Amino acid sequence: MFDSFGRKINYVRVSVTDRCDLRCKYCMPTSNPFFFKKKDILSLNELQLISDQLILLGIKKIRITGGEPLIRKDIIQYFKFLSLKLSQNKIDEVLLTSNGTQLKKYAKNLADFGIKRINVSLDSLIEQKFNFITNGGNLSNVIDGIFLAKSNNIKIKINTVLLKNFNEDEIISLMKWCGKNNFTLSFIEVMPVGEISYSRSKQYLPVTKAKEIIKKEFKLEKSELKSSGPSKYYFCKKLNLNVGFISPISEHFCLTCNRIRITSNGFIYPCLGDNNSVDLKPFLRSGKSKELFNTLESVIYKKPERHFFNINEKSYIKKRYMNTTGG
Ligand code: SAM
Ligand code: SF4
Repeated sequence: MFDSFGRKINYVRVSVTDRCDLRCKYCMPTSNPFFFKKKDILSLNELQLISDQLILLGIKKIRITGGEPLIRKDIIQYFKFLSLKLSQNKIDEVLLTSNGTQLKKYAKNLADFGIKRINVSLDSLIEQKFNFITNGGNLSNVIDGIFLAKSNNIKIKINTVLLKNFNEDEIISLMKWCGKNNFTLSFIEVMPVGEISYSRSKQYLPVTKAKEIIKKEFKLEKSELKSSGPSKYYFCKKLNLNVGFISPISEHFCLTCNRIRITSNGFIYPCLGDNNSVDLKPFLRSGKSKELFNTLESVIYKKPERHFFNINEKSYIKKRYMNTTGG
């Protein structure tokens, strides 16, 4: 369906849990993070009901995200349900964004259920730095999981959040590593979603800075690659690498946004950079599927024209962190 600005909305990101086995320092508070009450988390049945209604409204792409989606206990049943929708041609693609910690366990299942592409978040290729930024993550476990997914014919895209004074010195090595392994790579600007202990402007490294660093080493050409997401791709011939840049702060891409988000506690967010959301649980839990459909339709129609992220504020979005909506 189309929103009131004429954008075709055909892509949903479903956060299936707000819990995570890592604590990335830019994503959520490292101590005492807030999590939804268990009773508010959607059941598998409720996730399926929402998915069905969204498919009726024209959603063709479903990205599963979190928190860490692969730590949800019944996640494989949800993938099974979605793979049925794929086989019935009701949707075009099921995608996953993961921190990779559970890929060793699930790569084969995911491939069996028709997952062809996975985004894995990786902000450093140096064990100690990875452990620091994720607050305890084990890099070699993640790398092993990535290669297991690759050997199951799943295409890998690495997502790296650009962080000032943390990983600008790894931009080139990440590119070389991705080129060598036939992965795609996207660099993302940090967003002021959720208040953390230090200022977002101190973390912020614009994609223009990353491009400057890259252009000292490599030429970037126009890429044929177009994704349904926000990455603008370039091709690095020397590395045979498609490298994307996601610039929510320095150059917003709201004009072409085709996405909505569902959180694990059953809220729909028509825009990641906006506080407005609508609780779908009352309709889900009283079996009012017509009301559920009408609400989804009306929220999608009223999707805001754009976000107004301001990196100079400690947090533009105050009451929510990225583990609520997923990336
Ligand atoms: N746990 C999974 C993962 O890390 O891929 C999925 C959820 S995570 C919230 C999704 C993406 O959001 C990751 O690529 C992560 O790096 C990114 N992210 C988290 N907080 C962010 C922030 N404040 N600004 C920009 N990206 C952020
Ligand atoms: Fe967890 Fe992903 Fe947030 Fe890191 S970015 S804390 S892995 S949800």
